[in-house]
Amino acid sequence: MEKINSLTGMTDLIETKADENVLANKVFQTEKILKEIFTNYAMSEIRTPALENTNLFKRSVGDTSDIVNKELYTFSDKNDKSITLRPEGTASVMRSIIEKKLDGETHKLWYLGPMWRYERPQKGRYRQFNQAGIEILGYPEGAPEFEMISLICELNRKLQIRKPLIKINHLGDSNTKKLFCKALVDYLTPMKSNLDEKDLLRLDSNPLRILDSKNPNTIEILKKAPSISDYLQDSSKELLKSIQELFSDKCEIQIDFNLVRGLDYYTGFVFEAISEDLGAQDAYLGGGRYDNLSAQLGGKDLPAIGMAIGIERLALISYQENKNRTLISFIIISSNSEAKAYKISHELRSINKNIDIDVQLSQGSLKSKLRRANKNGAAYAFIVGDEEIESKTVIIKPLNKEDSDQSTMNLNEIENFIKNLS
Ligand code: AMP
Repeated sequence: MEKINSLTGMTDLIETKADENVLANKVFQTEKILKEIFTNYAMSEIRTPALENTNLFKRSVGDTSDIVNKELYTFSDKNDKSITLRPEGTASVMRSIIEKKLDGETHKLWYLGPMWRYERPQKGRYRQFNQAGIEILGYPEGAPEFEMISLICELNRKLQIRKPLIKINHLGDSNTKKLFCKALVDYLTPMKSNLDEKDLLRLDSNPLRILDSKNPNTIEILKKAPSISDYLQDSSKELLKSIQELFSDKCEIQIDFNLVRGLDYYTGFVFEAISEDLGAQDAYLGGGRYDNLSAQLGGKDLPAIGMAIGIERLALISYQENKNRTLISFIIISSNSEAKAYKISHELRSINKNIDIDVQLSQGSLKSKLRRANKNGAAYAFIVGDEEIESKTVIIKPLNKEDSDQSTMNLNEIENFIKNLS
């Protein structure tokens, strides 16, 4: 029978106990650490559906963005309604807050889950990938910007990110954006013949996005282009400077007046974090302020700032200490009182929640079970046979250690032994 494979750009993540360098292990570990950080910053979790009305993304992410133009997974459901697998999290969070009439309040939220974009897969770029994100809603410019950068510095530290650089910029208010866009179009229009098709389209629909161009010709032309810094108010420039100064001992922060973000809804402060170790897809998180999004989606005026973090990319560039929990391989070599041995393992598990007990479920010789225990990275094998069940004892055999002398302990001794394991 022919095998069925996964779809292009959609990866399986399978945890492997004995090898912490497997991407899946790092992804799961990264998620755990991120959740700890979010909790530490007093954020609350929000979980929204993976499928939304297609119009939600058209109205928020924007008709001119690559995501909406080319990358949406859009289908008709059985009722011919156009639905879309979410390509990002912010639009759904805002939809939810408005729908639940919570748009008059302040919120500090985090989410984590899969996103879908029909992109050309390459290293660090998938069609289904996982993002964690933060949305701080209801607070005007100032404090949340500092909180966001503080959290990124903490994330860089805890995940030991290799060569992190945070780039920050300010897109000004709508007037700044308008004046700057006009200046950019005036500058670029006489040079239209030197622009490629993609940049010509951007010139028409969303000139700011030309600053994102990867075309070397365009990059050269942009060197002499007007800069948004000529149009920014002093207060915006001061915000950038004070963020850079305040965290200068914690993270490397660069003001980059060419930083614009791919999604249409950003206003004001924007940022991105990159690591050169990622190669072409070098951004591992990005975000900014989007004060108009709530009103744009039919809600109240609700100032907001958020960011999205690419979990797989973080996993690729983080050094994580091997904080593996202690694993005990529980080996039963009894054929007639197995059930009693299961009960022992059940009780041992509740003694110390920091150790994991892997009851070996397969039949086989003691030798093959010990081999499997070693392969799975267990620190100890606990061996229980008929004699041990009878005498209420367990044989404890240290694995992967020079001292591999086994000992027999009664249940009280084992309880103490397990309590003392970290
Ligand atoms: P964005 O929503 O485009 O600002 O993306 C935020 C973060 O999500 C990026 O910095 C990446 O780390 C990650 N990301 C975006 N697209 C992909 C993708 N196709 N595959 C893997 N990670 C992605």
